[in-house]
Amino acid sequence: MRFKFYKRNKKIKQAMKIAEKILALDEFYSKIESITSFDNSNISPAEIAEQIRSYRTVVIIRTIWNPRIGNAVASSSKFFKINTLRLGRKRTIPKVVNTIIHEYVHCVDFNNDTLEFTHFDNENTNGEEDNTAPWKIGEIAEEFAENLT
Ligand SMILES: [Zn+2]
Repeated sequence: MRFKFYKRNKKIKQAMKIAEKILALDEFYSKIESITSFDNSNISPAEIAEQIRSYRTVVIIRTIWNPRIGNAVASSSKFFKINTLRLGRKRTIPKVVNTIIHEYVHCVDFNNDTLEFTHFDNENTNGEEDNTAPWKIGEIAEEFAENLT
């Protein structure tokens, strides 16, 4: 079990279950390993995949309602917050899975002081952050989620 969620939000619950499934798939890690390199990181995709695979801290999913922030926010290895304001009808389950895995990558990163695999800043309007680990791995998870839903 990778996550715990104590609130009542159907969309987050559904997405969390799918995220759990994806994190148990060997193919998910193979896909990460197949990336040549991530931007803004000092370690290889294979090492990042291993960090994620072996992470055993159960991460708590919390919620926040905040118009000033994006989809979610992570600042600890133990929890992250999903902005429920951004869970409108147009936001599909695979997109929420993307967000959960993106934040999870941050949690794994926060767990280790020497290994770095985050993005440059919190803006990705022109796709300049697409090849950083959180964005790319979130994207990979979204693709898996589309086939699981
Ligand atoms: Zn991020």
